[in-house]
Amino acid sequence: MSKKDYYEVLGVQKGADEAELKKAYRKLAMQYHPDRNPDNKEAEAKFKEINEAYEVLSDSEKRRLYDQFGHAGVNQNGGAGGGFSGFDGFGGFEDIINEMFGGFGGGGFSSGRRNGPRKGRDIRVDLTLSFEEAAFGTSKDIEFLRTEDCDVCHGSGAEPGTDKHKCTTCNGTGEVRYAQRSLFGESISVKPCPTCKGQGEVFDTPCHQCKGHGKIKKRFSKTIEIPAGVFHGANMQIRNEGDLGSNNGPRGDVIIVLRVTPHEHFKRDGNDIYYDLWISYSQAVLGAEVLVPTLESKAKFTIPEGTPNGRQFKLKGKGIPVLNGFGRGDQYVKVNVEIPKGLTKRQKELLEAFDEEMTGKSTGVSTDSSKSTKGKKKDDKTFFDKMKDALS
Ligand SMILES: [Zn+2]
Ligand SMILES: [Zn+2]
Repeated sequence: MSKKDYYEVLGVQKGADEAELKKAYRKLAMQYHPDRNPDNKEAEAKFKEINEAYEVLSDSEKRRLYDQFGHAGVNQNGGAGGGFSGFDGFGGFEDIINEMFGGFGGGGFSSGRRNGPRKGRDIRVDLTLSFEEAAFGTSKDIEFLRTEDCDVCHGSGAEPGTDKHKCTTCNGTGEVRYAQRSLFGESISVKPCPTCKGQGEVFDTPCHQCKGHGKIKKRFSKTIEIPAGVFHGANMQIRNEGDLGSNNGPRGDVIIVLRVTPHEHFKRDGNDIYYDLWISYSQAVLGAEVLVPTLESKAKFTIPEGTPNGRQFKLKGKGIPVLNGFGRGDQYVKVNVEIPKGLTKRQKELLEAFDEEMTGKSTGVSTDSSKSTKGKKKDDKTFFDKMKDALS
């Protein structure tokens, strides 16, 4: 088991002061926060590593032990560090997270304060948009289940009209103490009572609807405005519409994770879009006017005479509007020349004549037209006109 050095994890010097630690932690936590990296196991592991490092280094006592004994000095098995009453360091860490993300909700970072207000859980909602909806914005109805107070017991968990009694497991204190052995001897840890869930009381008859939890899941819907220019994987946060908090804590948030379906014509890169245009050989040689699809409709576009395969043109301002800003990206049109296959005899003759015209040599394949005197036109049509007729 080789654990990375905590200072290394946070990218700070060994003597770093509190402000430096906080700054480094904040930056990394922002970068690797699960909300910003949905379904990314690597980021999740990194996030845990960062939290663990900060938890120890931000607590002067734990840091002293770590400096002296390394990882063995700080017991990570107990979560909040064995040997010390220990939630103080944790508190500071939670505060930073709350400041940054408006709190985690009841998930992984409970403060251990039994009756303190706790923010409700955040709810993740995946929302799929079409390419155009992402480009120009739209309004969408989202629907999700969230925790509400039970409407039968109004959150108490007791069947109306029945009594409560003191919890015998914790003798009404709501917490249980247990001994924990570590490198430095035995220590006492405190946890919320499992019987009464930290409430200190149990109900004689639990509420029939919520089974004593005091909370139920209810369907909730909301119309949200999606701004123009959003992209695949972007998150939108709606504050205080998530699960109900406990002990008068605020609601969690709703995190909307946007998915954008690919477009049949366009590829997107930032605010620019790319379109593959296929033209015929003669269009490339002779030039042509074509219609190119754009996000809104179609644009007339002139291919200049002698356009090589792979040339890219820009339709300025035909890309994606800038999110929360002004202006739009561009549309790039990449020209692809289709090489004709399965030509008719006449088409081959014309091409051979063309080749002869260009190089001044016979291709060696005998046809009537190729035998005719080089450079002489048989009718009024120019060679290019014939090419155009034959290939278009
Ligand atoms: Zn109830
Ligand atoms: Zn209890």
